[in-house]
Amino acid sequence: MARKTISVIVPVHNEEAVLPTLFRRLTDVLDRLAPTYDGNVFLIDDGSRDRSWELITAQARHDPRYRGIRLSRNFGHQAAISCGYELVPGDALVTIDADLQDPPEVILDLVRSWEAGHKVVLAARRKREGETWFKLLTARLFYQLLHRIAESDAPEGVGDFRLLDRQAVDALRQFPETHRYVRGLVGWLGFHRGIVEYDREPRAAGETKYPLWKMLRLAADAIISLSFVPLRVAYVLAILCTIPFLGYLAYNLILQFYFHEPMVRGWPSLILATIIFGSVNLLMFGILGEYVGRIYAEVKHRPLFIIDEVAGQAPPLSPPFPAQAAGVRSHSEAPQNHLSSPP
Ligand code: UDP
Ligand code: MG
Repeated sequence: MARKTISVIVPVHNEEAVLPTLFRRLTDVLDRLAPTYDGNVFLIDDGSRDRSWELITAQARHDPRYRGIRLSRNFGHQAAISCGYELVPGDALVTIDADLQDPPEVILDLVRSWEAGHKVVLAARRKREGETWFKLLTARLFYQLLHRIAESDAPEGVGDFRLLDRQAVDALRQFPETHRYVRGLVGWLGFHRGIVEYDREPRAAGETKYPLWKMLRLAADAIISLSFVPLRVAYVLAILCTIPFLGYLAYNLILQFYFHEPMVRGWPSLILATIIFGSVNLLMFGILGEYVGRIYAEVKHRPLFIIDEVAGQAPPLSPPFPAQAAGVRSHSEAPQNHLSSPP
């Protein structure tokens, strides 16, 4: 029987400080897999401005199991991962962050769980070291909210460190959406799921590439792509705002008809009502806008990422979307690249 292939996908954005250690530890994992599996590493350079791409091409020259895909600019973590799922071959694909917060050695546990028959294996953080209390608190609140309102089940503490069987990858490749929260989509897929617990370590070097605004954008993508609940908030707010004012109106009518008090009182509450209803309206406009904006993005149907060049000589990549193939320029080391052949 042919040997199975395990490919590791690593999104990289300005990670020159961690790459040498990452390569050393991943190579060790590939060596440990080697008796049973062919292992490859695909580094997706998501618009790095430091020496990351230089280091990736050097590594690909040095070890044929490494290959680089350079995107034409920074498309974002989720797009970089999606690029990996779209192009990388293999019977099982592992996604892992570059910064060694996810220890590469855990890949061996993911593979064991896959061998036991799980087509989706999620790595769940037992504890998270080196994260600020703010990040831990907001992450916790976010997962609880998502758990309550989302149509997909993404367990708490599960990030983008996971293994997917080829069948699950091909299922995921059918999702056409532009704004994506990959771990939510993976939850939506179903399949027999394994969970491997691990301790998340502090970042090995460098700074987080997820500033607050990127986190908020990801959170908005997650909630909006997986739930209609924010739209329904309008009903709740409408009821909450209307009931007290209806009550107050009734109170005034009673005063007028039974106690013959004039109704001129109550201007402040009228103004209050205007302000509250005004802001509720604006809030709902904002929420509607988030959905409408995403519909607009989907209708435009732009490619999720554009490839600039590739490096290394690992096995041929799976054929890309035609639109993305247009952006491909093969690196000199990979003249036989299948990216440029029609799908
Ligand atoms: N990353 C990326 N594109 C981006 C931001 C991040 O490819 O626009 C990569 C980054 O290099 C890392 C992973 O995504 O491999 C997770 O980023 P980071 O560790 O900075 O996020 P955090 O762990 O702080 O949430
Ligand atoms: Mg990190």
